[in-house]
Amino acid sequence: MKHYPAARLPSHTGLAPWRDILTVAPPSFPQLDHSAVADVTIIGAGFAGLAAAQRLTQLDSNLNVTVLDAGKIAEGASGRNSGFMIDLPHDLASENYSGDALRADQKQIELNRQAIAFAKNAVEQYDINREFFSEIGKVNGAASSHADKCNTDYGNHLDQLNETNERLDAQSMYELTGSRHYLSGIYTPGTVLIQPAGFSLALAAGLHSQVDIYENSPALAIKHDKANWIIESSKGRVTSGQVIIAANGHLESFGFSKNRLMHIFLYASMTHEFSRKESKNIGGQDNWGITPSDPMGTTMRRFKTPSGGSRIITRTCAHYLPEMRTTDAKMQKAAAIHRQKFQQRFAHLGETQMQYQWAGHLCLSHNGVSVAQELEQGLYSACVQNGLGATRGILTGISAAERCLGLKTEISVFFESEKQASLLPPALLAKPVANALLKWKERRATNE
Ligand SMILES: Cc1cc2nc3c(=O)[nH]c(=O)nc-3n(C[C@H](O)[C@H](O)[C@H](O)COP(=O)(O)OP(=O)(O)OC[C@H]3O[C@@H](n4cnc5c(N)ncnc54)[C@H](O)[C@@H]3O)c2cc1C
Repeated sequence: MKHYPAARLPSHTGLAPWRDILTVAPPSFPQLDHSAVADVTIIGAGFAGLAAAQRLTQLDSNLNVTVLDAGKIAEGASGRNSGFMIDLPHDLASENYSGDALRADQKQIELNRQAIAFAKNAVEQYDINREFFSEIGKVNGAASSHADKCNTDYGNHLDQLNETNERLDAQSMYELTGSRHYLSGIYTPGTVLIQPAGFSLALAAGLHSQVDIYENSPALAIKHDKANWIIESSKGRVTSGQVIIAANGHLESFGFSKNRLMHIFLYASMTHEFSRKESKNIGGQDNWGITPSDPMGTTMRRFKTPSGGSRIITRTCAHYLPEMRTTDAKMQKAAAIHRQKFQQRFAHLGETQMQYQWAGHLCLSHNGVSVAQELEQGLYSACVQNGLGATRGILTGISAAERCLGLKTEISVFFESEKQASLLPPALLAKPVANALLKWKERRATNE
């Protein structure tokens, strides 16, 4: 009998902010407490797991699909991100997000847009609050001449790709953000800014009439016995014809892709809610997202709240942590840097309270590929989204669902033909080297 026990389960640092700020109580799903049977079981209810469930129901409404999550929906990375559902190449290891080859970038854009269309379809099908899915694009902001040069290079790359982009000067950046920090920007219209918890929870609620969803139901082991896969949880088990692991970096916890996945923790802070009046004092518009022109800089996002006020998110700092967990102390250090970055941009607001600080797990491979493969007969993965968790997560989920049903589409063929994630040096060596490199890149990004 094949037996893949989970060596580790997810561990979260800081409250999941997007879930916590919802004004309507989030739907909750039961814990698995019995022996269930399914055609397909999905482990993980992040972007990838929910997209896999959605695609399976689209392809065959009679399929019996079960989703298990170790925690609550939107408590993991899919509820801890900055909410940029990005259509364009976003290679975090590059100097300015451009990929290596035009053809590869074109393909990536085309697939990313299919993922966004898929998410939009869910918004329409399940009548998801439109405020959770803001189709307003994003800006690459630059605060120094080096970053301005990154923007120019990126803009030229977009021109070569025939992608719409608009160069913004310092005044336009001020009118957008209310901050004099930025010297220039490049606006691209295709990114959607989501409320990631609102979106994921509404999608799960919509799927629930066709899919059995269980929260607080960790997959503790995956076994294969005769013709079936058995997923053992703490209080129940599912016997299943096929299984999709959509557990992000925790794919490795089941023993797959060992020494091939880079476990990065990112940190972010969110302000308290600015009232309507305070929001006016910020200046600028109340709904925008800025990624830094230097990929190791600071992401900022402001969004409107249901009461007519707004909040601002600051995201920067990264650690390479093969142990797949971070600490409160590391998060607090990052939070101090977030306060500094916020002050640099919004000094005119005086001392501003950050209501939330949090960390989240990002999983990358060194050669930028996902791990969306058939691992064994009937066992699939939809993991490793690299820098584009929202769009890639959806794509790997779609791909796994299609491959379960033996369907060859542009998406499933793309992932089937991706190379294997490349091997990393031993963690003992890789960890200090990678963290030193991240620190150096963050320092170099200075004010970005
Ligand atoms: C601070 C921060 C900002 C980010 N900003 C962005 C952004 O703006 N745009 C973007 O595209 N990406 C962003 N990302 C990355 C993005 O959030 C992730 O790449 C994405 O959420 C991955 O989706 P996923 O479904 O693969 O994994 P996850 O969201 O991690 O979902 C995996 C699920 O599997 C569950 N799981 C794990 N092990 C088990 C088990 N044994 N049994 C059952 N369930 C299990 C977990 O509980 C989790 O819910 C950011 C990440 C962070 C941390």
